[in-house]
Amino acid sequence: MRCGWCETNNKDRDNCVNCGGPLPHPGALGPPPPPSPRVLPARFGERVLRPASFDLAFLGLGVGGAALFCLGAPLFPPFLAGPLLCAPFALVGAYLGWSRRNRGKDRIETLERGVATVGTVQAVSNEGPSQWRLTYAFDLQGTPRTAEVTSTDAEITRFEPGGQVHVVVRDATHSDLWPPMA
Ligand SMILES: [Zn+2]
Repeated sequence: MRCGWCETNNKDRDNCVNCGGPLPHPGALGPPPPPSPRVLPARFGERVLRPASFDLAFLGLGVGGAALFCLGAPLFPPFLAGPLLCAPFALVGAYLGWSRRNRGKDRIETLERGVATVGTVQAVSNEGPSQWRLTYAFDLQGTPRTAEVTSTDAEITRFEPGGQVHVVVRDATHSDLWPPMA
């Protein structure tokens, strides 16, 4: 079972050997979330807020490329136009990192403060190599809702349609499994 907080692989146990966070119990309901606001393992915040290497590659390409053009400008003045060509890469990288950080903040807020409820697994599907999607249904103030999570851990296939899962819900568009899947 891979830890949804820090992505460490664990043998069958209740808490992660690395970060101490509760581990998912695919196929069983497992212990309920503690009362809100919950204290999440610190490594989760670090992991979901930092930019991905993909974002940094774009940013580096843009900033590094612009710097190289500027260095070359004394030799060949038209290189001064280079930063204009590089700027879009830097902007894309900055935007990707920024939106990833916002999604991370949303996830943290949901897991810390979401209202605990019990949902039902609707489907688990394979979305490609090491990529699964789990759809779950829950009730939000009397209205049935569905949401989904993706995971890179094949253990998620031990959840079966109709089975129960702990869910934390902030609003119609922000919910997560408790504990989260990696
Ligand atoms: Zn962990």
